[in-house]
Amino acid sequence: MSSEIFQKAKADSGAEYLRLAGLEEKYPVRTFFSTRNGGRSSGAYASLNMGFSTGDDRTLVGENRRMLFDFIGEDGYCEAVPHQVHGAQIACIRAQDVKAEEKKGIKRGLKLSFPDTDALITDAGNVLLTSLHADCIPVWLYDPENHAAGLAHAGWRGTAADIAAKTAQRMCEVFGSEKKDMMAFIGPGIGRCCFEVGSEVVRAFEELLGDIGDLCTDDGNGKYHLDLSGINAGLLRRAGIGSVAATEYVTCCRPDLFYSYRREGGVTGRMCAGIVLL
Ligand SMILES: [Zn+2]
Repeated sequence: MSSEIFQKAKADSGAEYLRLAGLEEKYPVRTFFSTRNGGRSSGAYASLNMGFSTGDDRTLVGENRRMLFDFIGEDGYCEAVPHQVHGAQIACIRAQDVKAEEKKGIKRGLKLSFPDTDALITDAGNVLLTSLHADCIPVWLYDPENHAAGLAHAGWRGTAADIAAKTAQRMCEVFGSEKKDMMAFIGPGIGRCCFEVGSEVVRAFEELLGDIGDLCTDDGNGKYHLDLSGINAGLLRRAGIGSVAATEYVTCCRPDLFYSYRREGGVTGRMCAGIVLL
């Protein structure tokens, strides 16, 4: 029996994605991580490219996004879009703020944009938290006690800034969450197989975590291979998150499923991670 946390799924539109099936079966949430399959884009972007700022045809990207997001339902939702900068800034969308907007007559379907932001948290229903990925690691957070969610974009810089644990901490401050109740799910990103770094990156993580021996392979030529997923798991466990689980999927060695910035030398599409509270 596989312990893989993601299950493959397909929207009616044909858009193919992964979902955190175990979480969805227990709690009223929807989750996804899009694959590259079932969309309209072609060439280096084939086919379900979710990123507008990639050089791809923006009309096709808009269609791809609709094809994926439509499975969430006809009630509509606000789409929360962070403008990611590999930083550690976290934006918060509170249920009370969404209700205030609705009272002003602002309809669902609204797009909420957040500049210089790499993580989002919410306790509002029908607010779709999103982030874009092509090797950087997505981290989902869910607090069943307060029905609140978070989503963080953790490349090596974000990971070195401890963004996932900081996102959990912000959920505690804003929603009254407790870390022992929280669940973290680490999604597909670059694997140790392909994540070659110099000693300065290794030093950044040693400063953060101490000994990272198990998570770092020394190639002996001044280069190292790092397990960025494992480092994120270590940071989340250190922060006291009650349950931390990670996928086996990697982006770099699965060209059949995923875009990879490193594999494709930068000209490629983006997968979209998402969570919405129902
Ligand atoms: Zn790889």
